[in-house]
Amino acid sequence: MLSDQGRRLLELLVSVLPQIRVANPKTYISYGTAHTQLGLELMAETYGRSLQRQGLDELARWTKINGFPAITGLIVNMERKSDFYMQPGSGYFDLYERAIDDFRWWEHEIVKSLSFNWAPYLIGLTLVESPRAVDLDIPERVEATVYRILRDSKLSQQIKAIHNNECQICGHTIIMPNGTRYSEAHHIQPLGMPHNGPDVIDNMVCVCPNHHVELDYGVIRLSIDMLRGACGHYISEKYIDYHNNFYGL
Ligand SMILES: [Zn+2]
Repeated sequence: MLSDQGRRLLELLVSVLPQIRVANPKTYISYGTAHTQLGLELMAETYGRSLQRQGLDELARWTKINGFPAITGLIVNMERKSDFYMQPGSGYFDLYERAIDDFRWWEHEIVKSLSFNWAPYLIGLTLVESPRAVDLDIPERVEATVYRILRDSKLSQQIKAIHNNECQICGHTIIMPNGTRYSEAHHIQPLGMPHNGPDVIDNMVCVCPNHHVELDYGVIRLSIDMLRGACGHYISEKYIDYHNNFYGL
């Protein structure tokens, strides 16, 4: 069992999974950012060592003992002067008896972390079971799958219900074999860094999977006029502006 401290760190790491590009550690989280986001007091000379004492070592051992993916490899040094610039500290590799330049192993652990079902070990996030076609060779797909799972919160379910699972852009819905209707909820200003959009209903739209991907990748410009409205769902213009500005649309 993880302590509260270890679990909070795990929740933080799971919450950054949607932003992760496996081959680009710049999309990972730094020791300093993790430390700050958890609101910890600095208890050692570096953020890394302080974090180790406040959940990091515990979480790393927990993943190892349970045979889970080594998700703590998401925390990397982002200070240029560090000997371990853009990679985890030596403790990460040491625990697993890996050489500190065994990047293939590290990358594989991150890919596994993206497709692993962390839901049973979290309390703060509302997760639902979702069909997953995980192909470890295509991290982008894994990432998209994790994204959908993580965001299927109460608010997501609420917005889908308001729109009867019809895409606010094209009106399409998917009828599943059992007769239920399927749609997805999208945060217009995405959650997580670097966007830090709020998890509120006026920052969300109900869309079909195609339009969801187009929004995720900034393929289409948004405007209030193009979105089908519904009673009980007001969309704030500022998030639409954020989407258009961020993607230069
Ligand atoms: Zn659509």
